[in-house]
Amino acid sequence: MESVLWRLENVSFAYRDKPVLQGINSVLQAGRCIGILGPNGSGKSTLLDLLAGLLHPQTGRILFQGKPLARYRRRDLARCLALVPQHFRISFDFSVREVVEMGLHPHLARFALPSFEDQQQVEKIMRQTGILALEKRPITRLSGGEQQRVAVARALTQRPQVLLLDEATASLDIRHSLALLQLLRQRVQGGIFSVVAVLHDLNLAARFCDELLLLHKGRCQAQGPTAQILDPRILEEVYGVESEIHYNDFTQSQQVSLRLPASPLHEN
Ligand code: ADP
Ligand code: MG
Repeated sequence: MESVLWRLENVSFAYRDKPVLQGINSVLQAGRCIGILGPNGSGKSTLLDLLAGLLHPQTGRILFQGKPLARYRRRDLARCLALVPQHFRISFDFSVREVVEMGLHPHLARFALPSFEDQQQVEKIMRQTGILALEKRPITRLSGGEQQRVAVARALTQRPQVLLLDEATASLDIRHSLALLQLLRQRVQGGIFSVVAVLHDLNLAARFCDELLLLHKGRCQAQGPTAQILDPRILEEVYGVESEIHYNDFTQSQQVSLRLPASPLHEN
């Protein structure tokens, strides 16, 4: 499956008068797990919101499956794209199960109730994301990491062609991080969906991403196969850190060791 999901043509975006992304040209292919990396404030979340159609570029355009994103109806987009936002906030006391069931909405006829199969699907996803035991708890009283897993479960329930994740492992413990990324990886390999994930951890990116896109100062600094982008010169340029990168037998992937330069010349 080698088809184009998004095509970004000279995309620029600013919040009021604050330019964030400038002249981004990029093609994102289906069938892989694409990692978006970059320092704090480099525009990763903004880029994800643009891909999800929640924000619109001031210049340039974004095509999704050959058609301008701006021309899609919300509901049609929700059937193909699911976003796990960086800050998942629901202020009303819905139960965990109710929140996960919200993922069914784009597929249900108006006012229709979930079918028995839908219910079973919801339960399966709650089991896989380790939140079944929490199903009756109010969402507002869960820990940050538990809420994040609920957000992932809701997105999986949406049965998307592409899952967009914004630092979805940020408040997960190490076991849950690995379990989530493995679950996503298996679905990507099984051709069930593609993944675009903002990650901070270079070692997780090395293990789970086929391709990386590196943002730096509002521009796409580099994009390509993971092994090619995880390069000491590129990491030094973007993050101002020194790195050593080697293949690790234990994790069966490239792994990165990092340190600050002895005398940092500049703050990145
Ligand atoms: P990242 O996710 O890479 O940390 P963001 O895309 O969240 O970066 O933000 C990029 C820049 O845009 C940051 O400097 C941030 O302060 C700014 N920014 C983000 N959201 C808004 C907003 N709603 N209004 C104004 N500025 C924003
Ligand atoms: Mg962000």
